[in-house]
Amino acid sequence: MFNLTGKVAIVTGAARGIGQSIAIEFAKHGANVVVNDIIPGQDTVNKIRTLKRKSIFVKADVSNKKQVENVINETIKKFKKIDILVNNAGIFVVEPTEKITEESWEKTMNINLKGCFLCAQATANQMIKRKKGVILNISSVAGLEGYAQAAAYCASKGGIRLLTKALAAEFGAKGIRVNSIHPGIIETAMTKSLLGDKKTKQGMLMKIPLKKTGKPIDIAGAAVFLASDAASYITGTEIVIDGGWTCAL
Ligand code: NAD
Repeated sequence: MFNLTGKVAIVTGAARGIGQSIAIEFAKHGANVVVNDIIPGQDTVNKIRTLKRKSIFVKADVSNKKQVENVINETIKKFKKIDILVNNAGIFVVEPTEKITEESWEKTMNINLKGCFLCAQATANQMIKRKKGVILNISSVAGLEGYAQAAAYCASKGGIRLLTKALAAEFGAKGIRVNSIHPGIIETAMTKSLLGDKKTKQGMLMKIPLKKTGKPIDIAGAAVFLASDAASYITGTEIVIDGGWTCAL
């Protein structure tokens, strides 16, 4: 049911962390995967090729329209089609609001939110031609609720939530499903310093009903489901994967 055999997926920010796990799980379920990142992505490509699936790395900054278009062009050149796009690339900056510079605000918004839009726009043009496709946007629990000292991050991730719904409303009739995934606290390079602080980690765990942090694979499982035909009637909605963090008082 969760079969992705023959599908072609692009995963942004897939050199490590959640993106890498999604790319590898897609390959395990039969997909060929285009790995995008601004840092070297060969490790992910090699892992996918070990699974006997095809993979290429295309370096690009998702906030740059020309570079995004190049990812799409390279994908079409190699694989002739795009079935799945995962907008995963993102940055997380913790800064007191009074210290956020205009540059820092713009960088977060450009990578996290504009990046999703640019990749979705460029990919949708290809998907519309075939009247099918799946777009998954990786938002955050910080796109649902506020997180102190992360105003730009929350604004960008909240924007992704509604960008998802707007695209789902527009693209449904064109055969494209669009959903967002909202991870809680997941063990990756992004959260290393946060979780490295014992007091901060303890404070978080106290609020999480499952009493543990998540792993990238916890997000990848939901991504496989949403990308597969098992989710063929699911669009414009969100899956929260946070160990219960946002459900508890
Ligand atoms: P990560 O830092 O390990 O991975 C992010 C990847 O995105 C990196 O490989 C990075 O090089 C890449 N990237 C950054 N800027 C880019 C750009 N401009 N163009 C292309 N690639 C770029 O972090 P992660 O935890 O794996 O995060 C993946 C996604 O999940 C992010 O969108 C993040 O906001 C989201 N998320 C993570 C958590 C968590 O707890 N780790 C929680 C909620 C949401």
